[in-house]
Amino acid sequence: MAWGQNNAPSYSELLSAERPTVVLIGPGGVGKGTIAQRVVQQEPRTWLSRSWTTRAQRPSESGDEYVFVDRATFEQAIENDRFLEWAEFHGNLYGTPRPEPGDDRILLLEIEVQGAEQVVRADRDAVVILIEPPSMEELRERLEGRGDTPEHVATRLGSTAHELAIGRELAHYRVVNHEIDAAVDEILSILRGLR
Ligand code: 5GP
Repeated sequence: MAWGQNNAPSYSELLSAERPTVVLIGPGGVGKGTIAQRVVQQEPRTWLSRSWTTRAQRPSESGDEYVFVDRATFEQAIENDRFLEWAEFHGNLYGTPRPEPGDDRILLLEIEVQGAEQVVRADRDAVVILIEPPSMEELRERLEGRGDTPEHVATRLGSTAHELAIGRELAHYRVVNHEIDAAVDEILSILRGLR
């Protein structure tokens, strides 16, 4: 179930923005990465930014998920003002490179809440969609399933309540990821219905 808030920008406001932006947020393990990829596959008016991170690549990752860099390289990029937003999350840096000008498709960002706060401060037309887990138990199972260590799983679960609380304040729409195809359909209908 998705529910919009009154202050959500209209679709025409979004598209007339200089850089139309939709931000997907939600706790780690909720499935927002997969959802974001499916949304861009199914909606050609969107494109997905590829973030930079200092986190180590997981064994389950192909290497395309992020630009994996060391901390010095990331800090130099901050210095050079290369990021639209960036944040430190559980000891690693994550950032969205400034997009090339001239792309009028909707920029889809899949980021954590501190970054979303920066985007919303800079762009009042940005639309924020929070992806929520069906339950904490299911979130734990998903985190364990992607190969993180038990310590990592515990740390990530420890910040979930806080991420959800801030996310609910920021979000124009909330979507519960019971089932991936249904969640993708809901997001597509939010995007297409922002008129
Ligand atoms: P993970 O390490 O699980 O891939 O990502 C951890 C968190 O960082 C997730 O909530 C993910 O959405 C977020 N994240 C990924 N890229 C970015 C980014 O460019 N900026 C920010 N602020 N968060 C990001």
